[in-house]
Amino acid sequence: MSNHNPADYNTDYFPTWCPGCGDWAIWAALKGALSELELDPHKTVIVFGIGCSGNMANTVRVYGFHGLHGRAIPVAAGVKLANHDMKVIVIAGDGDCYGEGLSHFIHGARANHDITVIVHDNQIYGLTTGQTSPTSSTGTKTKSTPAGVLETQLNPLALSLTAGATFVARGFAGDQPHLTELMKKAISHNGFSAMDIYQPCVTFNRTNTYDWFRERIVKLEKTRYKTNDKIKAIKKLHEEEGLPIGVFYQQEGQAYHEGVDVLRTGVLAGRDISGRDLEPLIHGYI
Ligand code: SF4
Ligand code: MG
Repeated sequence: MSNHNPADYNTDYFPTWCPGCGDWAIWAALKGALSELELDPHKTVIVFGIGCSGNMANTVRVYGFHGLHGRAIPVAAGVKLANHDMKVIVIAGDGDCYGEGLSHFIHGARANHDITVIVHDNQIYGLTTGQTSPTSSTGTKTKSTPAGVLETQLNPLALSLTAGATFVARGFAGDQPHLTELMKKAISHNGFSAMDIYQPCVTFNRTNTYDWFRERIVKLEKTRYKTNDKIKAIKKLHEEEGLPIGVFYQQEGQAYHEGVDVLRTGVLAGRDISGRDLEPLIHGYI
């Protein structure tokens, strides 16, 4: 099957996000990227985390798995190892991925699993009605921090770089064409792709609005920025002026599954196990 139309990836289900939520543009950009890359639904898996972003589950016509809070990355890594012919994508939120699931994010990056982690970063827990998340800026007042956030705001892309991610990018839900192009690059990359997306939550985050982002965003590709220098990428991610979006870093390297001997002869899921007695193996894990 060859898909050239984002609508080919629609299902009978429709998201329930608030009108104006940045998640709508991310959903549209994702379907646009899948169609432009001509990824067949039966060769693509999306693992969803918990949160407003996770409510995209059932609305993209590919294989899907809606897992436990913060645990999408290990599930995605397992899917990739079981069948490395599949394109594997994670959809998560900032609370889900950088809060509950932060250790998985770090270990997924340093393993260089060939998965694309797309984070809807609205700098708040949206589904639970507006509590501070790891990417809330210091001083932000929420219902869980009425006196303001005391902690330092997490810089997830700088963290992913130091952990070993080989593709690091940031997009903006207010620029869907740009976001679609970034997703195509992230999904095509062989290795761990960390993609953070500024995603305005119009209901619970009244500070980081579409206008707030538009006043600050700078596109890296419109500067002389080069994507092959990790130290420069880390510095760029710590600049205090403006909010750069685009590809910060990309490096080719061996993805995790390419280093596993037993996978060199083909995908695990394709092995002929007829005639094998699996009972002792199964009981060994019980
Ligand atoms: Fe989007 Fe915020 Fe509504 Fe969740 S609560 S759907 S993040 S606008
Ligand atoms: Mg969030």
